[in-house]
Amino acid sequence: MTTQELADLIFPNITKTIADYEKEYPARNLPEGAKVVRYAPSPTGFMHIGNMMSAVINYCLAKSSNGIFFLRNEDTDQARTVEGAVDFIHHILNYYHLTPDEYEYQGKIVGNYGPYIQSERMEIYHTFVKYLISIGRAYPCFLTPEEINEIREYQTKSKKRIGIYGKYAKCRDLTPDEAAKRIKAGEKFVIRFKSEGDFNRKFIFEDLTQGKIEFPENDLDVPIMKSGDLLPTYHFAHVVDDHLMRTTHVVRGGEWMSSVPLHYELFKAFGYKMPKYIHTSLILKKDSETGTIRKISKRKDPEALMFFYEEKGYPVMAVIDAVLTIANSNFEEWRTNNPDKPFYEFPFSPKKMSPSGALFDLDKLDNISKNYISKMRAQDLYQEYLNWAKTNNEDIYNLISKYKEDTIKFLNIERESKKPRKDYENYSSIFPKSWYMYDEEWNKDLTYEFLKITNKEEIESIMKDYLTNYYNAKDTQDEWFTKIKELATKMGYQADMKLYKENHDAYKGSIADFTTVMRVVLTTLNMTPNLYDIMQILGPERMLKRLAIFKEKY
Ligand code: GLU
Repeated sequence: MTTQELADLIFPNITKTIADYEKEYPARNLPEGAKVVRYAPSPTGFMHIGNMMSAVINYCLAKSSNGIFFLRNEDTDQARTVEGAVDFIHHILNYYHLTPDEYEYQGKIVGNYGPYIQSERMEIYHTFVKYLISIGRAYPCFLTPEEINEIREYQTKSKKRIGIYGKYAKCRDLTPDEAAKRIKAGEKFVIRFKSEGDFNRKFIFEDLTQGKIEFPENDLDVPIMKSGDLLPTYHFAHVVDDHLMRTTHVVRGGEWMSSVPLHYELFKAFGYKMPKYIHTSLILKKDSETGTIRKISKRKDPEALMFFYEEKGYPVMAVIDAVLTIANSNFEEWRTNNPDKPFYEFPFSPKKMSPSGALFDLDKLDNISKNYISKMRAQDLYQEYLNWAKTNNEDIYNLISKYKEDTIKFLNIERESKKPRKDYENYSSIFPKSWYMYDEEWNKDLTYEFLKITNKEEIESIMKDYLTNYYNAKDTQDEWFTKIKELATKMGYQADMKLYKENHDAYKGSIADFTTVMRVVLTTLNMTPNLYDIMQILGPERMLKRLAIFKEKY
């Protein structure tokens, strides 16, 4: 029996050849330098910040080179598949506007290089496996899990390298006849690659991020097709898919780097060119308790999973900027010089990615985000805030829908200026800093944050006099302040801060103490955005109502 006959025995129904697939998936017709990249998650968990970094880098590489960004669902580990993980991937890519050019979802295939779901590519993988068997570069292996365990135990005990190689690869030299006999007898088998590598020789390759890397050559006969579901292993699917989908650059986690010698050997067995690799760094964080730098953890750190950013209401573009800031050391400078450019025009450079790890820091994200939100138009911020509330907080949603105009006016205070206020790091932080603008919120327990002036009668008389005799909704801010100073002086406060400092015993307090009283009665807080604007929004009636509440509750 020949190896070709053995291949036919194992795959009697595979009639296509590799040449057929080469025709079906021809080289892509793209401009010079265009990069074809993919985000290839396994749906074995929910998207985390490391996945997000891969997706963003891929998107940048494709868009800035007029290339292609495609999504491939790597679902070959069906036992570990998590329900909802695929939907979440599509949700996140859409939510962050990282929509792939090619993908497959809910029965729809977009792009000519699909299927883009590995479990639907069985026939393709089997054609490729069949070819390797036919040329003697792959073979059925009948080792049982127990036998493999014994080998491992022996290797561990005798301090040998672990794995199926050399003499441990007991089935690699079975003749096609012997193999066929065992298959016909119903023995279970996997298909292993027949390595020609030599562990004592060096394999050198250039990773675009990590630089020149040296490993021993691969000499392991790794499984390329599993028994049972007959799905390919990651290594094999990577080689077949990235070849047929014409990937030029593979961006993937650093944990795959030591597999490159194997992948190289697989590509070579088919006579294919290897894509370029960008092995990304780990995402690190400073542990808040110990202060040490450690790997970010899905278990310990809520910010590790992508749910976090949406629930908190971080603006989409702030999250992307934060990710690029840790991914590329020159991103911040680029952003400073190009404040209004879309992120994907950033020329991501694999060399400017720290090989040792990317330090993620929520304070950094908060800063980026505060800055970003401070530059939004109040109307747009309102809309984002509303969208956020719709899915995350019904009470807030109802309230800000009801008081749309007032909410926009409030959000507009000290905005649209050279130095806008930077109050909000995300949409969920708006309500805790604006609740007092809604009368409905005033019927709960209140804490009045008065500072120097705390005497109830004094406070009451300031507010009463002011609201009855001084306040006029038509006043400009200057007129408004002149009147406040007038009343303050009349009541024994010093309107000039310098004079007050020179002789503070002579007065009840300063103009600042005086306005603090007004601010606290109207908002309960001693620090708020511009009081004049707040008063304009509240208007006389609601201010009188707040004075009445103060009388009752303070
Ligand atoms: N499915 C692999 C993973 O999620 C992808 C690695 C790759 O991008 O090739 O780790």
